[in-house]
Amino acid sequence: MKAFEEVNRALEDEELQLALGKASLSSQLKVEEVLRSRPELAELAKEVREIKKRSIARLDELIEQAMNSLRAVKATPHFAEGAERAREIVGKLVGSGKLVVLSKSMAAAEVGLREHLQSLGNEVWETDLGELLVQLEGSKPMHTITPAVHMTRRRAMELLRKAGARVEGESIEAAVRAAREFLREKIVRAHVGITGANALAADTGALVTVENESNIRLVSGAPPLHIAIVPVDKIVPTLMDAVKVAMVQAAYAGLYPPTYINIVAGPSSTADIERTRVYGAQGPVEQHVVLLDNGRLAARGGPFEEQLLCVRCGRCQYECPVWVHTANHWGGPVYGGPMGLAWTAITHDELEAGKLSFLCLGCGRCDEACPVSIPISRMARELRRRALTLGKP
Ligand code: SF4
Repeated sequence: MKAFEEVNRALEDEELQLALGKASLSSQLKVEEVLRSRPELAELAKEVREIKKRSIARLDELIEQAMNSLRAVKATPHFAEGAERAREIVGKLVGSGKLVVLSKSMAAAEVGLREHLQSLGNEVWETDLGELLVQLEGSKPMHTITPAVHMTRRRAMELLRKAGARVEGESIEAAVRAAREFLREKIVRAHVGITGANALAADTGALVTVENESNIRLVSGAPPLHIAIVPVDKIVPTLMDAVKVAMVQAAYAGLYPPTYINIVAGPSSTADIERTRVYGAQGPVEQHVVLLDNGRLAARGGPFEEQLLCVRCGRCQYECPVWVHTANHWGGPVYGGPMGLAWTAITHDELEAGKLSFLCLGCGRCDEACPVSIPISRMARELRRRALTLGKP
């Protein structure tokens, strides 16, 4: 089977094993330290679980409210039932011959947005450093937060130089500096900026994002057209709730305090446009928000519903004894590792997820690590049971 062949290749890759061992240990130590010194964050995580549970229970109503709030701040909401519709909406908005910059978005990857926009004749660049390296390598992200976790420094340098970035020296700092210069030039010239969101507040239409590279604020704030692609499970009732979700994601990703939390509610006002004209930058005069369903609404009430509480912190991956040897080679097309099982079933193909679930050891470390207490290993067992007993998962 293709997926297991990929896993076997990963197990034989010594460089990958070394990189994953180092990254998981360093991430575990960081998160432990954050949670030890800030016990209030574990309390906040419990609160976020309740916020998200209540949100999922009244999701139809929140979608409606979010769409109205987006209109009120002069953004244009769209609803995409599936990946094809999302590609169609964004494709029409972007057109062809444009320079498009993207910030890391699993939803964009889920619908194959970059490839679609490229096929329409656009120049498209990922602006998160790890995601850019993955784009240049032509591979897939290997972790939710650290997509290029598998890559050595030598390989990263090689890819950046090949793409035309001026890397002076062999240090990580030199590579980061070169990538920043390379990307900022593109962001300044870009016609379109596409982001995801950590959360969308239904009461205000505000998008909340958390980051440590400052690329998201540039991608959403510099090009004249900003498009956000937001899975519906990320809608929460209030702006305060949305900020709490972002804080918990950052803490459990080991990025606490977060370097930047951005709140964007609609495109720039006319006054801002005048001001930015004076200073040369353009700023978004148009904002579109694509709410992506792609199996999420149908997952409510089913055995994988609790995956909709996920804040995409990647904690379960770094804690998993299988993932630390395979990375996202154990996973579906986009989502990998423990969280990837139910996400693959919800958004892609339950049969594929069912097959992948046979690699789960059932140790339950992911359940304990998850900030919002998703019963990940129980869902893996359910995927397996359905695959075996129903003939079709
Ligand atoms: S399942 Fe839990 S631990 Fe894993 S990414 Fe989602 S929120 Fe984080």
